[in-house]
Amino acid sequence: MIAPGPSSPTGGPPPPVAVAGRLTTAPAAIDAAERLAPRLAERAAAHDRAGTFPEADFEDLRNEGMLGLMVPVRLGGPGASFADYARVAITLGAASGATALVLNMHASVTGAMALTPDDLARALGAPETYFVARDRALGAALDGALYAVAMSERASGSRLSAVSTTYTPAAEGFHLRGSKTFVSGAGFADAYLVAARAADDGQARVSLFLVPAGAGVVVEQTWDSLGMRATGSQDLHLDATVGADALIGGIEGLSLLLAHVMPQWLVASYAAVYVGVGWAAVGAAVEHATARGLGRLPAVRARIGRADAQVAAAETVVVEAARRVDADPGSPHTNRWVWRAKLLAGEMAMNVAASMLEASGASASRRGHPLERLYRDARCGSLQPATSDVCADWLGVAALGGDPDNDAEVTRW
Ligand SMILES: Cc1cc2nc3c(=O)[nH]c(=O)nc-3n(C[C@H](O)[C@H](O)[C@H](O)COP(=O)(O)OP(=O)(O)OC[C@H]3O[C@@H](n4cnc5c(N)ncnc54)[C@H](O)[C@@H]3O)c2cc1C
Repeated sequence: MIAPGPSSPTGGPPPPVAVAGRLTTAPAAIDAAERLAPRLAERAAAHDRAGTFPEADFEDLRNEGMLGLMVPVRLGGPGASFADYARVAITLGAASGATALVLNMHASVTGAMALTPDDLARALGAPETYFVARDRALGAALDGALYAVAMSERASGSRLSAVSTTYTPAAEGFHLRGSKTFVSGAGFADAYLVAARAADDGQARVSLFLVPAGAGVVVEQTWDSLGMRATGSQDLHLDATVGADALIGGIEGLSLLLAHVMPQWLVASYAAVYVGVGWAAVGAAVEHATARGLGRLPAVRARIGRADAQVAAAETVVVEAARRVDADPGSPHTNRWVWRAKLLAGEMAMNVAASMLEASGASASRRGHPLERLYRDARCGSLQPATSDVCADWLGVAALGGDPDNDAEVTRW
């Protein structure tokens, strides 16, 4: 386990104090996920019941080098693609949805940094100091640093344009002040990706900062939820000074632009986790039906068969969206698949888990039965941004020939 180190004066994450394992290829990462899955699955029920963060899961993930998954080959990482990430997330999501969700936040931070082409970042105005800070943050992930995302706020949800956390210039960088909520992995992360608005600016500049855990970053234990109870998605209070290179991209006002050009990390990356949750629900129903001799009942068999097809269909769309993200990132066609993937996976998980519970009967609703947990976990997929309703609206606007990212009626983010 890596203890959070002291806050770095330069805004980078604190140096990890233990050496993590190394993955050198993406196929090795997929193998590692399959190897780790049974251990994560074994611990999931206890963490759900107690609402505790799965520290041992992250020790395992770190020891396997999984925190370096998205780190490019040039820095010594496996250089996973978005499709590789999706494969890992499906496997881990089937073992423990909560652990896979926390890893998803880390992958979103490292993946967005690793997969933004340098030319694009330069064209947007990124200074050379950004590339140094980025590589340092990715190198720390390779060494086992864990990153969390602190975007949501109690008053504004995940709407980036409405965040109230502010930043002001400080002697050697910026001072951030405000409160976040739903911060998965809070208290166990080495640094937090924080969305904040310029204090002197009424509207426009919402920027992203990588804020090290440490002075001025305080976790409040508030997480006690219906599902995904082991994500430790606590509140986070910020009154912290960071170095200039904590500003992602070295450019102010980047957050909304990134949401539009890289929706995969804000929309579709969760989708893979919920495909895993769907498979877990089918697996738990098969085990229950087999143990109780329910498999000879046509209604039970048909529910399991329908669920099998629904999960496989959602998985196919998630994999196709991921393939397109790698081949043609940010294009309107690709983004449409990204929103489809999130919508279908979120609704599928919820419907499949409900049907598998019904096929299994009331005894599966008892606390401690895997389907009771999966039913609650699966309910969260549609609620995570972009919610299923928001995805459907986005797709509907696109189908009607409008521009869903520039909707005059509704601010998308
Ligand atoms: C298990 C879990 C883990 C999470 N982890 C993190 C994390 O690590 N970091 C983080 O920052 N957040 C995280 N979140 C928070 C997530 O981003 C929240 O779901 C979000 O902030 C919720 O805000 P809200 O409750 O106000 O609901 P909202 O998402 O704001 O939704 C409220 C209602 O308004 C609708 N709505 C919202 N926006 C629009 C729009 N633009 N157009 C039309 N309708 C809209 C929704 O469909 C919904 O019906 C997590 C959430 C969950 C459940």
